[in-house]
Amino acid sequence: MELDSAFLHLEHLPAKLKIAVAGCSNSCTHPLVNDIGIIGIARVALIQENCRHCLKCIKSCSEGAIQQDSHGDIMIDMEKCIDCGDCISACNHAAIVCEDRNYRMYIGGKMGRHPRFGNVFGDFATQSELIEQVEKIIGVFANYAQKGERLGSLIERISIEKFEQLVGEWQPADQLDCALLDFQFTDLSLNEMSL
Ligand code: SF4
Ligand code: SF4
Repeated sequence: MELDSAFLHLEHLPAKLKIAVAGCSNSCTHPLVNDIGIIGIARVALIQENCRHCLKCIKSCSEGAIQQDSHGDIMIDMEKCIDCGDCISACNHAAIVCEDRNYRMYIGGKMGRHPRFGNVFGDFATQSELIEQVEKIIGVFANYAQKGERLGSLIERISIEKFEQLVGEWQPADQLDCALLDFQFTDLSLNEMSL
């Protein structure tokens, strides 16, 4: 896979960094408890005029996100929807369609003594966008984490807002060189880095 060929060879990172990829919201590979987790998502849209009120979609949604309103119309509660796309295949009348397919990324998840669910980092439309973001995340991790500090612990130490800012400012050209060359870990404090 593209991620393997891009990042499998990285060495000298401050701590182990695990990437999990799941093709759907069932999340069999546990992306929320890996340092970087990626889930394929399908954002659905309802085309009311195609609906034949068969109610199959309601049964198909294990999140309870689909209901009928007082007029008998189908409604999708996007707050409850987890973008699994199951209702698309349940509807034989093209009344529920896939509006958008994306990769959703979580960062900072881990198991162990102090388990932590990853923070939602964002949705990305293409593999190249996704890989670019992973590259930046690893660059920030390689340069700002203390020795033995997992990504989730770094995020907790400096805050998710600060981490996102650092990733946003990261220049990809610098980062892989840094990690691949003989990376010298520098145990800088928050103040020294002006975080
Ligand atoms: S499965 Fe399709 S046609 Fe049937 S109620 Fe749901 S949206 Fe309407
Ligand atoms: S995408 Fe999944 S969670 Fe969302 S409404 Fe359809 S079946 Fe329910």
